[in-house]
Amino acid sequence: MDLGLKGKIAVITGASVGIGLAIAEGLAAEGADLVLAARGGERLEAEAARIAEKYGVSATAVVADVATAGGTEAIIAAAAEKGGADILINNAGTGSNETVMEAPDEKWQAYWDLHVMAAVRLARGIAPQMKRRGGGVILHNASICAVQPLWYEPIYNVSKSALMMFSKTLSTELIQDNIRVNCVNAGLILTPDWIKTAKQLTAETGGNWEGYLQAVANEHASSKRFGTPEELANVFVFLSSERASYCIGSTYFVDGGMLKTI
Ligand code: NDP
Repeated sequence: MDLGLKGKIAVITGASVGIGLAIAEGLAAEGADLVLAARGGERLEAEAARIAEKYGVSATAVVADVATAGGTEAIIAAAAEKGGADILINNAGTGSNETVMEAPDEKWQAYWDLHVMAAVRLARGIAPQMKRRGGGVILHNASICAVQPLWYEPIYNVSKSALMMFSKTLSTELIQDNIRVNCVNAGLILTPDWIKTAKQLTAETGGNWEGYLQAVANEHASSKRFGTPEELANVFVFLSSERASYCIGSTYFVDGGMLKTI
């Protein structure tokens, strides 16, 4: 199936590892040129160079913190330098661990800036570029936790829920400019971060980190396994393409059977 993505300009935040990196590779494999953002320059620049070489596309690395206005401005400027973006993937984010009773205001604000304001600011800067180019696609990587909370991470649950509603609201505003906005809610996706956490949690009890991850999958997903970043990236790539032309303002779950409601 030709997805028609060759020569499209795609901006991906949090693109140096895990899901964002898999989306970057998926879009590059379809011939899209990339603007990749993350805070850590070394890893990001190495991956951008590797992807450009492997797929014969251009990949610009922007070292930026998307939780700041300055960081999003740098990303918007890099996309403008390439002639403007056709695709924006708001992926950068991270889990949390706290109780509502104990977490200070600053922590709530930091997650609000990372999960919500980054998407707001990037939409404001990049949607006009898309409009000039005749349309575009904006995708938000929220989480199954936006609708089915994990109780140890209330700030994550709440801020991802807000991102999901932002996606829905933005979709109505931008469809008049032929910009399709959607949200993806993933379940358990096996990224290096999950492996690191599993190793830390099992370090003092025998180091069976794989057993720990299997127990997590058994508890949460009817498929009893984690998904790979590539399995999730495939959905992002499809939704980025014209093949998904009637997908507007929705949320798509990619969760291996984790969602407990219809
Ligand atoms: P990783 O921790 O593996 O990667 C996160 C990426 O985002 C890195 O490239 C990191 O690079 C970048 N990043 C983090 N903070 C910022 C920031 N402030 N500014 C710019 N870049 C940043 O995460 P995953 O791949 O696991 O997750 C990606 C997204 O998917 C997140 O939004 C997460 O909530 C969501 N998700 C993940 C699931 C999972 O099971 N893995 C399930 C459901 C949703 P650097 O640190 O160098 O900035």
